[in-house]
Amino acid sequence: MRRRDEVRLPSPHSKGRAKSWDIVSPKVRSAMMSRIRGKNTTPELLVRSLLYRCGYRFRIHVKSLPGRPDIVLHSRRAVIFVHGCFWHRHSCGLAYQPKTRARFWAEKFAGNVERDRRYRRRLTNLGWRVLVVWECEIDDELKLGRRLREFLTDSMQVATSGSHARTKSRNRPS
Ligand SMILES: [Zn+2]
Repeated sequence: MRRRDEVRLPSPHSKGRAKSWDIVSPKVRSAMMSRIRGKNTTPELLVRSLLYRCGYRFRIHVKSLPGRPDIVLHSRRAVIFVHGCFWHRHSCGLAYQPKTRARFWAEKFAGNVERDRRYRRRLTNLGWRVLVVWECEIDDELKLGRRLREFLTDSMQVATSGSHARTKSRNRPS
């Protein structure tokens, strides 16, 4: 099912050198793909490790919430998505346009972006705060750590000030 186009992604660590993807073996490409697209990807593991080292405890891949967030911190009413820049169309160099089958990709990307937006809206409506961490952000661990802490500190304040709109959100979303 997987098309050749899908594996021609630029490496997150080389700027604009997409060509190198064409020469790696199918096995390597497959590993690269799972890292970018799948669960428990390297960026996701790094974010989890950062959080853990900062003392945060969380659940992962919570199916009962819209979009099955990668990381859920119940006590802070906060969720974190770790998005691959290519699939979720970050405004960075990793979200390049495949050269072939332009319409197919345009529709696929639009669908992904719209889905992400819908999930974020639903989560917000349920009283959750949502943070998106992009794959390219893991290159600067210090900065990312700061961003995570700021987000979660804010969540703490939200969670402790005023409790309206929070009680019903315990229910599973319909
Ligand atoms: Zn990015």
